[in-house]
Parts: sequence; C-alpha cells; structure tokens
Amino acid sequence: MLENETKKVALVTGSTSGIGLAIAKELALKGYIVALNSSVEENEAKQAIKQVKENSSSKVVYFAFDLLKTGAPEALVKAVIAKFGRIDILVNNAGVQKVAPIEELEISDWDRVRTISLDVSFQTIKAAIPDMKRRGWGRIINIASAHGLVASQFKSAYVAAKHGLIGLTKTAALEVAQNGITVNAICPGYVFTPLVEKQLKDQMKAHGLNKEQVIEQIMLANQPTKEFIQPQEIACLASYLCSDMAKSITGTSIAIDGGWTAR
Ligand code: NAD
Repeated sequence: MLENETKKVALVTGSTSGIGLAIAKELALKGYIVALNSSVEENEAKQAIKQVKENSSSKVVYFAFDLLKTGAPEALVKAVIAKFGRIDILVNNAGVQKVAPIEELEISDWDRVRTISLDVSFQTIKAAIPDMKRRGWGRIINIASAHGLVASQFKSAYVAAKHGLIGLTKTAALEVAQNGITVNAICPGYVFTPLVEKQLKDQMKAHGLNKEQVIEQIMLANQPTKEFIQPQEIACLASYLCSDMAKSITGTSIAIDGGWTAR
C-alpha cells in the first residue's frame, strides 16, 4: 500500500475486461488511484468499476473514450490530469485483433488494429510525458505481445503493430531515461480473455479447424507450458514495474509467454 505520500495516479487504457481489468484491480489493491477507460456500454463499465473497487479503498474513476476517435488519446490523458492533477503511471493496454490472410485483410482492419496498438500508444505517451517530467517520476507500460517478438501467419496487422510498439517503447525509454521515467513493454503469450475468445471463430475459419483443434494446434502449440497465462500474472508483473525497485528496468520487452519465444 502507498502510505504517507500523495497517491499516485494510474491510467489503464482498455480496462473493462481481460488483462487491462486485471492490471487495474491489482493497482487499486496496491493503493494507486486508478483511471479506467474503454468505449463499452455503460453497464459493462459499471461492472468493471465494481470489480476494481472490490477489496480496495482506492479511488477509481471511469473515463469513457473511444481511443480510435481522432484526438481521443490526448483528450483522455488530459481528462485524467484535469480530474486528479497528475498522471504517474500509464498502461497502454487497449487492443484489438483481426485474423485473416494478407490478401483477405481489409485495409480498414489493418488501420484499426495498428491504430489502437501503435498510434494510440504514441499519442498517450506524448500527452503524459510532460506531466511525468514535471515530477521527475513516471512509469509507462505498453502491453505488446509475444507477437511483438515473433510472427504468426494470418495476423499481419497485429504482428506489425506490436513489433512497432516495442520500437516505440525503446525510443521513448531512451528519451526519458534521465527524468525518472521508465518505459517497458510486456509481451504476453496466449491469455484466455474475451479478445482470444473472439478470434477463435476466425482462427477456425482461417485454418479449417474446430475449436479444440485451434486451442491445441494453434494457440497453445507454441506455448511450451501448454497452458493459458492468467491475466493476474500480467497484472503482478505490471505492478512490479511500477515499483521503485524497478527503476532501472527500462527499454525492455519482458516476455511472459510460457516459454514461447525461448525457441
Ligand atoms: P480484451 O478484449 O479482453 O480487452 C481489450 C480492452 O480494450 C477492452 O476493455 C476493450 O473495451 C478495450 N478497447 C478496445 N477497443 C477500444 C477503443 N477503441 N477505445 C477504448 N478501449 C478499447 O483483450 P485482452 O486480451 O485483455 O487484451 C489486452 C491487451 O493485451 C491488448 O493490447 C492485446 O493485444 C494484448 N495481448 C493479449 C493477449 C491475449 O492472449 N489475450 C496476448 C498478448 C497480448
């Protein structure tokens, strides 16, 4: 718990489900003020707020912003600073997936997947850095993917965007290294969240397999542990990266992928 100091403020984008929700819960539990975000319906947002508040006395506020709208990433960061007077931790987590062979992938899907993972992260980082610099402390965590380190077929936009996000992570880390700000990427393997559930159908179609075959032959084929990773595992790593003990970890991409990228 953070005690005897002004509470730090953490913004987690895309935090109404899956990995983002788990990170938001963990940070609230650790005593940070948590700014939740997504573009979902009010009821879903209310459920997320309730879950994050459970077992924690931290202040939790929801910011409804569709990050694909022009100007929304900067507006979100500004809204958080306007509400709490600061932003200390930025977790770029919002993401979408599209599974299709390159010749069938619509340009609109390429744009959507790239924009949310890469362009939006650039814009939130750009908007948050000046405030973090003012206090000489900050933590930026980009949720990339094992697909930021290696490729899989039928995921061109996602793989390209996540590789780009790791490049952005390294560059940003170098630029703010002397300002007490760290910038890192977390690269999860398969975590069973709504994002993965949604791509099951596309994977079945692209590979001509049934659900069980997709899980065994596609999703967990590259994960030597043969187990899905739990969102809470990602959340605990993110929480550690936010701690003062992690102040020398910067510019890295930390794989949490059951051994996938060890090959
Ligand atoms: P999820 O679908 O459960 O959650 C995604 C979140 O992003 C949701 O809260 C959703 O509302 C939000 N979001 C989507 N579009 C948005 C928009 N336009 N504006 C605002 N919010 C938006 O997915 P997840 O599996 O928890 O994925 C979270 C992150 O982790 C993504 O960046 C994803 O690429 C990455 N990741 C996931 C896995 C996995 O196996 N699940 C593996 C590696 C990386």
